[in-house]
Amino acid sequence: MVKSKFSLQGKLLFAISLSFAVWVFNYLIQWTIAYVTPDFLSWQLTPILMLPMFFFSAYFVYVFLEKRDVPFSLKLYSSLLFLPVILLLPSRFNISYFNLTACEGVAGSLWKYIYSVEALIIVVIIFMGIKKYIESKDEKIFKKEIIYLTTGVSSFLLISWLSDILGEWTKQYQLNFIGPVGMVIFIGFLAYLIVKFKAFNIKLIGTQALVVAQFILIGSMFFFPQSLTNRILVGVTLLGTTIMGWYVIRSVKVEIERKEELQKLSDSLAIANERLKELDTTKSEFISIASHQLRTPLTAIKGYISLLLEGSYGKVPAKIQDVLDKVYTVNSRLVHLVEDLLNVSRIEAGRIQYSFALTQLEPLVAEVVDMFKPAAKQKKLSLTMRLPEKPLPQLTIDPNKIKEVVSNLIDNALKYTKEGGVTVSLEGTPSVARIIVTDTGIGIHPEDQKNLFEKFLRSKETTKMVVSGAGLGLYVGKSFIAAHGGRIWAESAGPDKGSRFIIELPLINPNIHAGTSDQPSSLEKA
Ligand code: ADP
Repeated sequence: MVKSKFSLQGKLLFAISLSFAVWVFNYLIQWTIAYVTPDFLSWQLTPILMLPMFFFSAYFVYVFLEKRDVPFSLKLYSSLLFLPVILLLPSRFNISYFNLTACEGVAGSLWKYIYSVEALIIVVIIFMGIKKYIESKDEKIFKKEIIYLTTGVSSFLLISWLSDILGEWTKQYQLNFIGPVGMVIFIGFLAYLIVKFKAFNIKLIGTQALVVAQFILIGSMFFFPQSLTNRILVGVTLLGTTIMGWYVIRSVKVEIERKEELQKLSDSLAIANERLKELDTTKSEFISIASHQLRTPLTAIKGYISLLLEGSYGKVPAKIQDVLDKVYTVNSRLVHLVEDLLNVSRIEAGRIQYSFALTQLEPLVAEVVDMFKPAAKQKKLSLTMRLPEKPLPQLTIDPNKIKEVVSNLIDNALKYTKEGGVTVSLEGTPSVARIIVTDTGIGIHPEDQKNLFEKFLRSKETTKMVVSGAGLGLYVGKSFIAAHGGRIWAESAGPDKGSRFIIELPLINPNIHAGTSDQPSSLEKA
């Protein structure tokens, strides 16, 4: 499609130039040749030589504006306009008689027809330009291109038309010489379009022009008197240049087509990327809405089960108590999942709010560890806490967010450990504080260690176990820690060798101040 558009534009420009050259050449004959026969023939041929330039120009403008070829039916109808010219060419309607004294043909009514068709074509070109200008609402560059091209082509044709019609009317045929000035205007506008908007493929047109010029130059040697050997040499050179020229034009064309294809590919990639972003936003919005709707009833269920278990509605028989415990656990898991989903959608929408406050880390972590003591006991796992040798200084953190992250790490450690236990240690260096959760569980394959912090990713070892989880906790945790200017990572010697998850928080973070803030910019760096 692109290919044909370009070569078509090139061909049409060539056709315009050629028909213009023939038209000018015809005038030169009329002005310079002193023999009656060629002069008369030239007058006789004038009508058929005038129209093509107009037709090709309109064709060219159409292709430029519509970026496609003219429909076949339109080509057919327009060529019908040529019919009277061809039929009446050898008749008195063309040249009524030949004024031998002035060596001039006297134009008949066919010429009036020609001038009308030419005027019609100029009007059509201007109309096409205006129509396209109105249609292309926001395409500023294209609009400018339309103005330059339509003005250039229509003034070129108008000047040629006026020079003909005025010359005819006033019988001052010198006026005909103004016509070619139009071409200068046309070339001027075209050159401006090429340089300013890269509207045409200058490389291709330039190569074509060069090859044609070379051909004409070498070809013209034929007209100088010379020996047969010379003629053969010129002939061979001409043939060689033509073949080589053809190859050069073809290779330039191929190169342009490749570039076009690449451009098209990158354009469609950009569109696809945009679409993906839109889809991602829609998905996040959906998750957010769905999670909100889920959270309310789930929290209500949790509340009612708690009340039931506490005996607020009377004593619960042991059998039912057992079932209620299970319902409570499963429901808590659901609440947790919904919380994670909500966090993910908030992170992606950049809507996480942080409440930073000066906080002592030891009691905060101890509180979370205590919360998990019953769960550890139930799984017959140890859960111990190791405090730093020296108390840590107070940190500016969002205590709830840090609690959430540590709680997910301990929850995971217990979840992915069958024997042994979990240790939560606190460490301090002059610049950072570390919370380290170590377990004796299933471990992590080296390949998985980095990816675990991606959304929905779970390790191969995990998929072999039957444990709940969506692979969101670490993703959320990484985002929270990054917002504190800290880091979180996993270490493991491999499957079945246990794991270590380390949170590192800076003691002083110049970007974070106590108080509420939106997602800080440090998140982007993470
Ligand atoms: P999940 O809800 O699946 O636990 P997380 O984002 O918290 O989601 O964890 C992601 C994955 O990281 C887990 O599915 C598991 O494969 C792996 N993982 C997390 N903690 C541990 C651990 N302590 N030991 C081994 N693998 C772990």
